[in-house]
Amino acid sequence: MTTPRTVLVTGGNRGIGYAIAEQFVAEGHRVAVTARSGEGPEGTLTVRADVTDTASIDAAYSEVEEKLGAVEVVVANAGITRDTLMMRMSDDDFDAVVDTNLGGTFRVVKRASKGMLKARYGRIVLISSVVGLLGSAGQINYASSKAGLVGMARSITRELGARGITANVVAPGFIQTDMTASLPEDTQAEYKKRIPAGRFAEVSEVARVVTWLAGDDAAYISGAVIPVDGGLGMGH
Ligand code: NDP
Repeated sequence: MTTPRTVLVTGGNRGIGYAIAEQFVAEGHRVAVTARSGEGPEGTLTVRADVTDTASIDAAYSEVEEKLGAVEVVVANAGITRDTLMMRMSDDDFDAVVDTNLGGTFRVVKRASKGMLKARYGRIVLISSVVGLLGSAGQINYASSKAGLVGMARSITRELGARGITANVVAPGFIQTDMTASLPEDTQAEYKKRIPAGRFAEVSEVARVVTWLAGDDAAYISGAVIPVDGGLGMGH
């Protein structure tokens, strides 16, 4: 049984973020999610925030602090893709993805660090992707942003590691979501051939790794990249 904490998950209204928030609730934590639209799972506090906007992040944290207490665990999950080959990618497609996935994470964890430093306790989990270290044709913006999260977690570890704060990266591979389910069956089969586990992951398999990293048992793990990819990215 891990100590109940105040948790904030960005992008908790759907997909992987929703599953992560659900898992934290199931394990007895006080959980808030940020959402631009929609709501987090039952038992969570939903606050509005756009990670590209510092003021909206600040307002979201203030609301969570007022209603649930200072944030002790933050999961930076919000992210976007704008895929196309490098030759065709506009500056805007590159900037938008980096500004959301990398800049957004910076804004979210910087704001979280205030309370964590005061408490001399904190758990920071950044949701990256297997393609961050593997590379991916057609995703130079996304892969760059996700690789950047590794440098970010390791820099946070060096800056704040002595204050009871850990920062780690979770790097999912193919996850069973609406997106993967809508792929044609032969495309899905082709992807699965490349994955040693021979299948996609359930969102809960990512969520349980995140809650474990945020819990008491993972106090001595920091600056790590934890793959949840069925072996797809081996060799990182
Ligand atoms: P979804 O597209 O289902 O959800 C993305 C979430 O991010 C939504 O809640 C969305 O909010 C939020 N978001 C996007 N832009 C912003 C913004 N500017 N401000 C605030 N919130 C924002 O994604 P997944 O659940 O599939 O992915 C979640 C994370 O996991 C992402 O970081 C993704 O890169 C990563 N990942 C996903 C994999 C997969 O197979 N699905 C594999 C590897 C990594 P809104 O609903 O308002 O748009």
